[in-house]
Amino acid sequence: MRDVAALIVGGGPAGAAAAITLARAGVRAHLADRNAGPHDAVCGGFLGWDALAELRGLGVDAFALGARPIGRLRLLAGDRHVELALPHRAAGLSRRVLDEALIGLAGEAGAVVMRGRAVRAADPAGRAVRFDDGGEWTGEALFLATGKHELRGLSRELDGRKEPPSAGLRAVLPVDAARSRDLAGAIELHLFDGGYAGLLLQEDGTANLCLSVDRERLAGGVAALMTEIMAEAPRLAERVGGGILPSFEAVAGVPYGWRAKSTSPGIFRIGDQGAVIASLAGDGIAIALGSGVSAAQAYLNGGADAAVGWQARMRRRSFRPLAVAEALRHGAAGPTGRGLLMQLLRWMPELGVQAALLTRISARRTGGRQSGV
Ligand SMILES: Cc1cc2nc3c(=O)[nH]c(=O)nc-3n(C[C@H](O)[C@H](O)[C@H](O)COP(=O)(O)OP(=O)(O)OC[C@H]3O[C@@H](n4cnc5c(N)ncnc54)[C@H](O)[C@@H]3O)c2cc1C
Repeated sequence: MRDVAALIVGGGPAGAAAAITLARAGVRAHLADRNAGPHDAVCGGFLGWDALAELRGLGVDAFALGARPIGRLRLLAGDRHVELALPHRAAGLSRRVLDEALIGLAGEAGAVVMRGRAVRAADPAGRAVRFDDGGEWTGEALFLATGKHELRGLSRELDGRKEPPSAGLRAVLPVDAARSRDLAGAIELHLFDGGYAGLLLQEDGTANLCLSVDRERLAGGVAALMTEIMAEAPRLAERVGGGILPSFEAVAGVPYGWRAKSTSPGIFRIGDQGAVIASLAGDGIAIALGSGVSAAQAYLNGGADAAVGWQARMRRRSFRPLAVAEALRHGAAGPTGRGLLMQLLRWMPELGVQAALLTRISARRTGGRQSGV
């Protein structure tokens, strides 16, 4: 049995942010991620202004990594569209590049980064984990940052949840001059029954196409779903180019709106393991970064025992953004709500700006260091 001070399971934005914060404060943090090297994630790659501020606080300039600036949100439903100016500058960046930069920083700060090491199960009472190679480790504090994936022993409690979880799909569209011109400076959200597709340019000029959809719509398979969606969202079909559909990565079982009710002593549930905001809001990365930083700070200030109080704060702070995002998601999922939403935004675009602000955990602060959760 190996015994360490802080053990972080998962090296996405939440786990990396925690590792950077702990290591910079002199704690020997160990971070394990199951991926052996750079990899993509099922994610839209939209960085809101709050995510950009969190990144700046960690010393990461997303634009220096090639992020494409975004100033406008284009919402499309059937043959209607509305365009809104975002309240602050946002950006598009692939998760492959973002996650790699953050993991690199964690290592530079002194964290022990173990890549290609999957944790198979956890024992919360013993603050212990078992790796897939059989190794058993305990941490004085355990930071659970496995994101969209459940870890046996510490799975999210989804019992009693009425709504089935959603599915996420992601594909990369090749560089195309007309698409690049149309998407420059904008993120597009194409709304359809039971979900939406987000489209933005990423650092290398390719476009990230990410869909979130009710799981039952996937029953006939991805190809059938895409054919249906292309018929429902003709402007998306134009963007994709009508022809051969790209191959998709998928993730099933995304429980939008879920928040951890509590935690065990010494266990900080960060990022999507603490709260899952509807991806439509584009704020999951900001919440992951902010919760990673603030959980690490709570541990630095109060030790492992601070976990229970910190988790309760995360639950409280994430209530409003998650509730607003859920209202938008459900509102946009059916034809009546979608029609109403488009009409309202046409008449009162400032409502869209308010919604964008209200889905942020820390809506007021847009610059410098912040710990949003
Ligand atoms: C369809 C979709 C689109 C989205 N688009 C956006 C967007 O545009 N902007 C935005 O801000 N948010 C978006 N989100 C939300 C965002 O992806 C998440 O909120 C964010 O990735 C959470 O970060 P995390 O660090 O908690 O988890 P993740 O990013 O999921 O990272 C978890 C890490 O843990 C590792 N891991 C998992 N299990 C184990 C294990 N057993 N052992 C070791 N390692 C493990 C994984 O390899 C991974 O690296 C989207 C979500 C979905 C579903």
